Amino acid sequence: MNYAYVELGLQEVPDEISVVVGFTGCPIHCSGCHSKELWDESYGKQMTMERMENILYKYKGKCSCFCAMGGEWSPNELIQYFKMARSMGYKTALYTGLNWIAQDVFEHLNYLKIGPYIESLGGLSDKTTNQRMFRIENGAMLDITNEFWKEVV
Ligand code: SF4
Repeated sequence: MNYAYVELGLQEVPDEISVVVGFTGCPIHCSGCHSKELWDESYGKQMTMERMENILYKYKGKCSCFCAMGGEWSPNELIQYFKMARSMGYKTALYTGLNWIAQDVFEHLNYLKIGPYIESLGGLSDKTTNQRMFRIENGAMLDITNEFWKEVV
């Protein structure tokens, strides 16, 4: 897979500092998508095991979570990245526009955000959203979507 960006993020996963990688080739094409650069699979740079290792090594101990923006369309590759991240002490998160993902991907996750973006319902920070964020503990899923709704004081 190619990737469009690597960023550090405080917003994507509650209570985690994330290394966020945006993989390209998203086949879902939500109307109103704010990340259309992720649609074209030929956009960006090719991710490799070596490149991912360098990215994760750079932020090891500084960031707590590796968050994949998509990539579930190439599950075997994505699983390798999750395994690598966990072996380096990271938690793992996946943002997908699907409503569910394959069990073999799920097994490698600490966090999972599901659901397509529906403009009239809004994103995770909107209480009307259709999207859900789960924390996964021992295979059980805890819906933590409301952590995106906390009032800023
Ligand atoms: S899943 Fe995300 S990246 Fe893909 S089209 Fe929907 S909003 Fe855009």
